[in-house]
Amino acid sequence: MRSDSLVIFATNDLSGITRGRAVPRSDTALHMQCGVSWVPANLGITALGPIAPNPWGPLGDLRLIPDPSTEIHIDLWEDASPFNLFLCDIVHTDGSEFDACPRSFLKTALSDLYEESGLRVQASFEHEFHLANVENGPCRAFGLDGYRLTEPFGPNVMTALRLARQEPEVFMTEYAANQFEVTVRSATGLIAADRAVLVREIVREVARRLGNRASFTPMVEPKGTGNGVHIHFSLNDSSGACNYDENNQGKISTIAGQFIAGILHYLPAMVALTCPSDISYLRLRPDHWSAAFNAFDSNNREAAVRICPTVTIGDASRSPQFHFEFRAVDGAASPYIALGVMVRAGLEGIRSGMKTPPLTEGHPGSLSEDERTQLGIRTLPTSLETALQEMEKSAIVSGWLSADMLDCYTRLKRYEMSMLEGYDDLAKCRRYMEAY
Ligand code: GLU
Ligand code: MG
Repeated sequence: MRSDSLVIFATNDLSGITRGRAVPRSDTALHMQCGVSWVPANLGITALGPIAPNPWGPLGDLRLIPDPSTEIHIDLWEDASPFNLFLCDIVHTDGSEFDACPRSFLKTALSDLYEESGLRVQASFEHEFHLANVENGPCRAFGLDGYRLTEPFGPNVMTALRLARQEPEVFMTEYAANQFEVTVRSATGLIAADRAVLVREIVREVARRLGNRASFTPMVEPKGTGNGVHIHFSLNDSSGACNYDENNQGKISTIAGQFIAGILHYLPAMVALTCPSDISYLRLRPDHWSAAFNAFDSNNREAAVRICPTVTIGDASRSPQFHFEFRAVDGAASPYIALGVMVRAGLEGIRSGMKTPPLTEGHPGSLSEDERTQLGIRTLPTSLETALQEMEKSAIVSGWLSADMLDCYTRLKRYEMSMLEGYDDLAKCRRYMEAY
């Protein structure tokens, strides 16, 4: 006889780690209104294990309140109970908002965008990850052994995602040895970020059940290929998609151009929140198809924001497909915070009526410093510490976070770095591989 299964009430925290408490599934109804208890200091737990000094210490109590629409129930394994989970908001015990909750941070950013501009964001997170313990590995770039040697990993991932209503799209072997990628359909802002949390957890669970380990670490080895998380996005107004304008340069609508200009303008100060691990900066280098500069281009994988290709085979029309991809994100970031700051930056661009940034039209790294300056392009921070300092220097970006969230985040990240003192890059990569 199979035992009763557990349902996990979960939050994805400042480190992008999903944590929570579980109750017997038969008791779910008892917890839908008031959730389960939670502790503020939990937000100070680093991805590497120990807890950093944080604003709350031993004080305070919170609740994790489930969002019923996020429930997943994946009953796929003979030898393990179903994987049940709700994503939650963190609130005070009287139900009022806790101002360091990452999911609430995104909700507020999305509602501010809507209130001020009438826009909604449609998004999809494209995830790359590394699968350890591939038997008879390594799997070559885009090769068939990646699909067949890992059986039934790929089909199980897609089935588990489908059972969890995540609308899986493509599963593929990626370029690096034992690197994979999975995409799901786009959804409106909050649902897209919920999906990003769930995709990571579902992929990890499927790997675990096969005795493997999936890691969303930004870099597997110092000189290797990065695991990126690319946020595909587009904007909708009351009449639908509003990204494309045939008459404009680059065919980008004025409003989408303002939104993108805001992202690129604030990127140097917000990259500490979207690429937030020590080794994230091994990935954000030229020739990594990531984002070493705050550049904008069409179909260019070295640009931080890229206009994605549109297919015009047959009678397909460009306008509804036309969308953008924000590439300066990795799996160490909370999807809520990454999308939340992208939206906040885009909204600043709209508020200030920023101009659509010029297209780089080539590799930003091959331009001279002067040419880059003329295009408004600058090099992104090259370490987590300099990224944190840029964030702290920017009153606008640090002002997006509540005082406690900012304090907790900066202490958490500096504590994480102090734990890596004396490690070389390879040892750091190994440590983060276990963490993510
Ligand atoms: N692996 C690259 C990254 O770190 C992305 C490659 C791609 O364009 O799929 O972002
Ligand atoms: Mg890829």
